[in-house]
Amino acid sequence: MSAGAPALGATWDVVIVGAGPAGCAAAITLAGFGWRVLLAEPRTAPRFKLGESIAPGAMGLVRQFLGPLDDTPGQAQACFRTAGNVSVWSGPQPEVTDFFYTPSQHGQCVDRLLFDQALRDRAVVAGAQIMAGGRFVSCSRLTEGQLRWQVVLAQSTGQSVHRTRFLLDASGRAAVVGRALGVAAQVVDTLFAYAQWYDSTIEDRDCHTRIESGPAGWWYSNRLPGAAARRLLVFHTDSDLPTARTAARKAGFDALLGASTHLGPLLQSKGYLPDDMPIRGASAGSQRLQDFGGADWLAVGDAAQAYDPLSSQGIWKALDSGSEAGHLVHYQLQADAPVGQDQSYIRQYMAHQDQRWQQYVAQRNFYYRQQSRWCDDVFWRRRMAA
Ligand SMILES: Cc1cc2nc3c(=O)[nH]c(=O)nc-3n(C[C@H](O)[C@H](O)[C@H](O)COP(=O)(O)OP(=O)(O)OC[C@H]3O[C@@H](n4cnc5c(N)ncnc54)[C@H](O)[C@@H]3O)c2cc1C
Repeated sequence: MSAGAPALGATWDVVIVGAGPAGCAAAITLAGFGWRVLLAEPRTAPRFKLGESIAPGAMGLVRQFLGPLDDTPGQAQACFRTAGNVSVWSGPQPEVTDFFYTPSQHGQCVDRLLFDQALRDRAVVAGAQIMAGGRFVSCSRLTEGQLRWQVVLAQSTGQSVHRTRFLLDASGRAAVVGRALGVAAQVVDTLFAYAQWYDSTIEDRDCHTRIESGPAGWWYSNRLPGAAARRLLVFHTDSDLPTARTAARKAGFDALLGASTHLGPLLQSKGYLPDDMPIRGASAGSQRLQDFGGADWLAVGDAAQAYDPLSSQGIWKALDSGSEAGHLVHYQLQADAPVGQDQSYIRQYMAHQDQRWQQYVAQRNFYYRQQSRWCDDVFWRRRMAA
């Protein structure tokens, strides 16, 4: 080996790029079937992650992967049950969607970092190997034998080359494998999320997620798990609009909140004050890969298709697509077809993902069109025209 050349890593049945909920769900499923799974994850100690509200429809999958998550003693610091959603959306009056009338009767609010870590721990227990600090660099196809891919991963100690039969892209919105393979990403809009955290000394037992529309976008808030009163507030607008620049600064964010009719007064009445951290931003638009996979690779979770947070389906879709891909890749590996032949399980997954995307887009457009108070404002005009 020449100096600086990547070290030769091990041989795997499946290399999964990214250990978010989608990658972990796939890893738990595939390792559970006995396949040799490597899960590469670059972030070793993330300080925050947005997306902590789990929709009622996802509760079955959460139980499948993590067992019962509950607000019983001992768990109370990490999660609590959500009872519904309060929205000030189509009109000025709050409307309540009660989760009691769903099959699980509740949703869940989790500490997102602990939730993701719990999934990673489950993947390890199932038999997957995690490469902490492992970042996907590149991949190239192998054409002989059972091994179909050579994958280069980087850690702080250097690069290593791994060979695998199957490759899963679970790298979130970055979709690093899909893009490395030249698959285009279709980006529907430029929605961007600006987040600020608030603390209070007054007890807050609110168990509802809350949204509120405004002229240039919409707000989201929920209380966070833990003993002390802490709340997340997120403003969503298009990144190219002037309001985006306002929301990115603390003073501007507070001014926008001051103009809200529901969430601003709610935070004030509960004595909430912003913490010292700067405003955090994250892409929140709708996007999909043109192809959800191909011969001997698939994309799962946000890498395949990322939804507007208004849908509240991100974690649900990540666990669901990770589980589905895990099962279909298992069948594909069992079939052990020669290179380029019988990829019917892959096609089945891709067709289902396409169906999910069509449903999602129709639902997204429907919800945005329900809002009729700010139709002349550019943020909403763009969505009405969709
Ligand atoms: C503002 C906002 C609010 C949201 N709120 C909610 C919510 O309330 N409820 C909900 O259900 N969903 C919510 N979501 C969406 C939800 O967080 C995502 O859909 C979910 O995290 C997707 O899971 P994933 O595993 O596909 O991707 P991710 O969770 O993004 O995980 C991808 C992983 O891949 C890793 N990775 C990236 N690049 C590489 C690389 N080069 N090599 C290796 N690994 C790599 C990343 O470090 C990361 O750990 C929200 C999203 C946003 C933006």
